[in-house]
Amino acid sequence: MEILDGRVVSQAVKDDLKKQVLLLQQQNKKVPHLAAILIGNNGASETYVASKIKNCAEIGFKSTLVRFEESVSEVELIQAIEKLNNDKDVDGILLQLPLPAQVREEKIINLIDPAKDVDGFHPQNTGRLMQGLPGYIPATPYGIMLLLEYYKIETAGKHAVVIGRSNIVGRPISILLSLNTNPGNCTVTLCHSRTKNLKDICLQADIIVAALGKPGFLTADMVKENAVVIDVGITRVADASKKSGFAIMGDVDFTNVAPRCSFISPVPGGVGLMTIAALLKNTWKAYGKKDTS
Ligand code: NAP
Repeated sequence: MEILDGRVVSQAVKDDLKKQVLLLQQQNKKVPHLAAILIGNNGASETYVASKIKNCAEIGFKSTLVRFEESVSEVELIQAIEKLNNDKDVDGILLQLPLPAQVREEKIINLIDPAKDVDGFHPQNTGRLMQGLPGYIPATPYGIMLLLEYYKIETAGKHAVVIGRSNIVGRPISILLSLNTNPGNCTVTLCHSRTKNLKDICLQADIIVAALGKPGFLTADMVKENAVVIDVGITRVADASKKSGFAIMGDVDFTNVAPRCSFISPVPGGVGLMTIAALLKNTWKAYGKKDTS
């Protein structure tokens, strides 16, 4: 069993970007600029955004944090997005989800300039992804693809089972794995809460992507020998032994599943770090090429 180590791969991505930013700095050129919009005081969202900003700083990207109270109105958000869309210095716009109930997520996402949509959530980018055209791929599925690529995981002709069909993880990774690319060319089964016989389907899988948000859901009896298991889940579970008061749990029962696997990604230290690396890559792309066509 080999660990798909998000620490190693994300660091390799960041080292590469850092070198390229250094060249820009030496030539006194503008560096990539990511603007993050954060609403309210959700602990997990605060942590994610802080980490994204810290990672920008590490590699020399400029970042701007635009903060709003939980009570923000749709109009205020629209104005903020229009300002960032029109700001020539801003290359990428990140809108940290979830949004408060009074704000229509779809409406706001659709307002982000697709050329600055480094989250890859705008319908123009999701449409491009579906057609296998260049565009911005949502960071988590993109990060998974980078992980598979780095470890040269053979995917062609393999049966990949994705558990979870969200727009940000499950559905896009199912499409990416099905494309005629490398990694890709999988036969994909996309599962969700209404799927029947999930255990039987998982037992047929060469590759399992668990993205449902249920700690320890994927157990050893659901995984065939030598499968590749990618754990996307991040759930905060109360843990008095931790300073923070919680532990981060993945969707896979790692201790018992790992011995059956050829490769497995851990939580933490797996897909989460790759998500940030992929976001940085998208921002670099936005900087270099505003037109994604
Ligand atoms: P989500 O929007 O809540 O979607 C969960 C999906 O799992 C849904 O499609 C749901 O089915 C399915 N599901 C729920 N219970 C199931 C069950 N018992 N059997 C089969 N399918 C089931 O979640 P998400 O945003 O995709 O996130 C999933 C997990 O990944 C969460 O833990 C989240 O924190 C984590 N995450 C991690 C990263 C990262 O960077 N590592 C990034 C994003 C998300 P239905 O559609 O039928 O409801």
